[in-house]
Amino acid sequence: MQGKISQWIMIWLLPVIVIGGLFVPLLGYLVVGMMAFFLVLSFFKPRFWCWNLCPRGSFLDIALSRVSANRPMPKIFLKLWFRWLVFAFLMTFLMWRLTVAGASLMAVGKVFVIMCVVTTVIAMVLGTITKHRAWCMICPMGLLQEQIGKCNKKTGPKK
Ligand code: SF4
Repeated sequence: MQGKISQWIMIWLLPVIVIGGLFVPLLGYLVVGMMAFFLVLSFFKPRFWCWNLCPRGSFLDIALSRVSANRPMPKIFLKLWFRWLVFAFLMTFLMWRLTVAGASLMAVGKVFVIMCVVTTVIAMVLGTITKHRAWCMICPMGLLQEQIGKCNKKTGPKK
């Protein structure tokens, strides 16, 4: 069976957010809840979320891996500066959309749904033409988890 049991359990959250969220914007808050959870988790277990629980990562492993061309990723994906650039770009976009959304619960939820839809489409395109997990090399949330993990003396790099 492709994918771990935990991934099969979590994968359904992806369509709930990217499809259901288009009709019920409040589902975007699931993204906020997951972010809070994995950012804390990453301090103790860096990227445990990515390889075991992330709904999009699960989708990429379980479904997209079957159609992926499995070609080498662009080398630039491995560069830390490029990963930070993607991070800065997407976070700036997120902040801008949140500012426009103001204090409306619905509008804020929709911002997270749209972010999830956009990044999932990018992940699918990249995963189809290169490696199925190509997006995970440049995903801002993956980078953030990695950096938080480094802050923990037990799991971070040894000096
Ligand atoms: S890198 Fe991003 S998309 Fe990939 S598994 Fe981690 S959080 Fe999910």
